Amino acid sequence: MKPISIPQCDSGKPRDECGIFGIYGNPKAANLTYLGLYALQHRGQESSGIASSDGHHIYRYAGMGKVVDIFREEQINHLQGHLAIGHNRYSTTGSSFLRNAQPFRSESILGPIVLAHNGNLTNAGALRYELEKKGHIFQTTIDSEVIVHLMAKSGIDSFLDALIFALKQVRGAYSLLVMNRDRIYAVRDPYGFRPLVIGRLGDSFAVASETCAFDIIDAKYVREVEPGEMVELSENGIASYRPFEKKEQSLCVFEYIYFSRPDSTIFGRSVYDMRVRLGRRLARQAPVEADIVVPIPDSSVCAAIGYSRESGVPYELGLIRSHYIGRTFIEPTQKIRDFGAKIKYNAVRASVEGKRMVVVDDSIMRGTTMRKIIKMFRTAGAKEIHVRISAPPTKFPCFYGIDIPTHKELIASSHTIEEIRKYLRVDSIEYMSVETMIEALDEPDMHFCTACFDGDYPCELDEMGEENQKYLFEDDEIDGYY
Ligand code: SF4
Repeated sequence: MKPISIPQCDSGKPRDECGIFGIYGNPKAANLTYLGLYALQHRGQESSGIASSDGHHIYRYAGMGKVVDIFREEQINHLQGHLAIGHNRYSTTGSSFLRNAQPFRSESILGPIVLAHNGNLTNAGALRYELEKKGHIFQTTIDSEVIVHLMAKSGIDSFLDALIFALKQVRGAYSLLVMNRDRIYAVRDPYGFRPLVIGRLGDSFAVASETCAFDIIDAKYVREVEPGEMVELSENGIASYRPFEKKEQSLCVFEYIYFSRPDSTIFGRSVYDMRVRLGRRLARQAPVEADIVVPIPDSSVCAAIGYSRESGVPYELGLIRSHYIGRTFIEPTQKIRDFGAKIKYNAVRASVEGKRMVVVDDSIMRGTTMRKIIKMFRTAGAKEIHVRISAPPTKFPCFYGIDIPTHKELIASSHTIEEIRKYLRVDSIEYMSVETMIEALDEPDMHFCTACFDGDYPCELDEMGEENQKYLFEDDEIDGYY
C-alpha cells in the first residue's frame, strides 16, 4: 500500500482565496489573531502566519498547513505585542511553499513593512518586470510583494503616503492589511471585490475578512471597510482616508454564493440570508414535482433550505460529507470505482431510496464530482434526480483572487445545459440567470462583479492569461520548501 495524494479540488468547487485578520491595542493580540485565523480557515488551508509588534520589534511565525497544526502555545507566546496581523493562504498567485506564506515581512528605508493580502493584482507582472529591470530582487513569487517594493522606492518619508503612492499604481483586487511597528492599515480596493470588516473588542479594534472571526473572540461588528477606503488603527483609535479615485462597486457575488461562511456578515448583509434568498428565487424560477430537497453539503445547505421553504418540498439530508480527510490517503489494494468522490461523500440510502429528488448545489465547475455524486444517489435508489443550481453557469475564470478552473475546463463554457444534463445523467437541470440572481439578492445599492458568469470583467486584466495567473512569476521548475 502506498499513500496517494487527495486533490483538494475533489469537491468540484473553486478553491477559496485567503483570509486576513488584524487587531490593534490588545496585549493578547497574537492569541486573538490565532483565533480569528482559526475561524477563517475555510478561506485558505495551505499556509498560515501571524506577525505582531510591541512597538519596537516585529515578531513573525508562519508555516504550511492548517492553523491548529502550525501554531503551538510556545509560538503564540513568542509573538509579543499589542498589535498583530495574520493570514490564511490558498495560493491564487505563487506556488504553495513556505517562502510565499504571509504575512510577508521586509525591511526598508521606511522601517519594517508587514503585509497580508486577499485578492489578485492584475498588473503585478508588468510592475514586477519594471522593478526587476531596475535591479529589485524579489523574495517571493506572490503578486503582493510589488506593493512593498513600490513603497520602498517611492522616496516618500511618510509610511502612509508611501503606501498610498504604491496602491495608486496597482490594479485588481485587494483587501489588505499592512503593519509597521506601531500601526495597522486596512485597505480595500476601489472596486471592493473582497470583503473586509471592522470590529471592536473593548478598547481594541479588529479587522477581518468576515465577521465569523469576531464572534469567536467576542468582538462586536462595527462596519465594513468601504471600497476605496484606508483605515488606520493606532493608539489614536481609528482614522479613515479615501485617497483613491472612485470606481464602480464590484462586490464578488461568489462570496455570497459559496465562499464566505453563512454565519458571517459581509458587504453589510448576512451571508445566510443571501443564500436562502437565492434558494427561494431558484424554487420560483425552476419548480419541480418532487418528494425531497437535498443539498450538496456544506455550501449549498442554505440555498436548499430556501428552495424547500419556498416550494414546500421537505428538506432532507441525502448526502453526507466527511470532514476528516487529510492530504494523503492509503490507496486501497483493490480498485474501487470513483474512490476520490467516495472518500468525501456518501449518499444516505434511508433518505433517498425511491424518492424524486431536487438536488441543490451552488455551482458546477468541471462537472466530474457532481456526476459521481449523482451516481451515488442512483445506486442508493433515487427514483428521479432534478439538479438546481443557485447561481448562473460558471463560464469564465476569475482574475480577482478566486481559483476557478480555466475556460476550457469549465463544463458550462463549452456545453449547452442539455449536454450538461446528459453528462450528469439527471432527469432535469436548471441554473439561475445572472438577472434572476441579482434580482434575488434584491439590494439596489449593491453592485456585483459577475465576471465568472458573463465575462464582464470590471477591472482591466493586463497581462493576466488564463493559464498563468497563479504562476505568474515562476519558471516551470518550482524549487520547493526552504
Ligand atoms: S469573477 Fe466571479 S469569483 Fe471572481 S470576483 Fe468576480 S464574481 Fe467573484
